[in-house]
Amino acid sequence: MQKKVLRLLSFLLLLVNSHHLWAQKSINTERCGFAPTNDLAKFEQWLKANKTRQRTTNTVYKIPVVAHVVYSNGLKEGEKENLSTATIRQLIDNLNDDFRKREGTPGYNTHPVGADARIEFQLAQQTPDGSPTNGIVRIDQSTVPPDTSGQYPSLMESVARYGYWNPEQYLNLWFYPLPKVLLGRAVFPEADLPGMTPPEKEVKADGVFINSVLFQEGENNHFNLGRTLTHEIGHFLGLFHIWGIKGGCDKDDFCEDTPPVANAHEEGCGSKPTACNGEPAMIENYMDYSYDECMNIFTQDQVARMRIVMANSPRRQTLATSPGLIRLATNQVRVYPNPAIDRITIVPNTQLQGQQVQVGMYNIQGALLSQYNGTALDTIQLKIPAGTSGIVLIKIKGIAINMVKKVLVGL
Ligand SMILES: [Zn+2]
Repeated sequence: MQKKVLRLLSFLLLLVNSHHLWAQKSINTERCGFAPTNDLAKFEQWLKANKTRQRTTNTVYKIPVVAHVVYSNGLKEGEKENLSTATIRQLIDNLNDDFRKREGTPGYNTHPVGADARIEFQLAQQTPDGSPTNGIVRIDQSTVPPDTSGQYPSLMESVARYGYWNPEQYLNLWFYPLPKVLLGRAVFPEADLPGMTPPEKEVKADGVFINSVLFQEGENNHFNLGRTLTHEIGHFLGLFHIWGIKGGCDKDDFCEDTPPVANAHEEGCGSKPTACNGEPAMIENYMDYSYDECMNIFTQDQVARMRIVMANSPRRQTLATSPGLIRLATNQVRVYPNPAIDRITIVPNTQLQGQQVQVGMYNIQGALLSQYNGTALDTIQLKIPAGTSGIVLIKIKGIAINMVKKVLVGL
């Protein structure tokens, strides 16, 4: 794989005409630049140890997603690689069809080992600092100074430079246009074992890179149904390609229910090659390189791996409880009276009651005058310090709230 990546990098430097290259797809398209760098033997031991323990859980994990859409100067939303909001939402829907094996969608299969991963994806509802969002961040490349520091040597780091939300709480997806060679790339998870520290660059840019050229308006190719996302997120959650790490019949993907194959299937669905054990190869597996329209299956063993990672792995297990999943509601509190004389009463609505909140009264200069930190009760009262007059700000912050109200006092 390393060789492949090197070959790819040198190839990128030689690129002149991407249309010409696209026509020669099977030779020149690298579907995926996956190259795990962790200590894989230890990772597999860890996974195995957790497997028996957790196979029976039925929780549906939800993962908040932030889509960083990086585009070149001045493109309007929906133009070329500045993918429209509708396109991004469609891709997230497709992802859910695939991971949930939804009936009536292209992600459904009737294969005896086909499994519902019980993992769902949702565009983030709030930003890391608690502001409302639709989960899509658009970045005009021309507004970001070029990197001359040499601190971002890898592809993932160079795209994360444009925007990176806390990977403990968000799955970062970077949509970035490259000539049509590399379709996607992902960072592999790690085990929570002492001494298994991942390379720094993987923490600095944990997430999934997607070549946005695939999804441009009017684009017609075999990779625009969103399976690059399904595939890369498979890696992000601990899956290998079905031919194993380096390929060859003796190399394993550590899943017993994916027939062993020596190589990728880089074509359409017409002919089904034979696997190393004589069974038909599982070219419909999301972790192969087949065309998007052929893919529709994660197997039971693959699902078991991903669920173990979701339950245990650093920067994966925290995703399912991220505040990023929670929609910030307005009108969650009533603040009265206004104007106020000696105290201000805050009444959280029932949705907020019982949650942890920080409530602070600040003067216009930003000095803290009074505060309450704790569980949101049915009413919270803040005393106004003697001698305060003018406008004060009541700031209320919690997992589902981040708001400021102005109150006139001392008049
Ligand atoms: Zn891959």
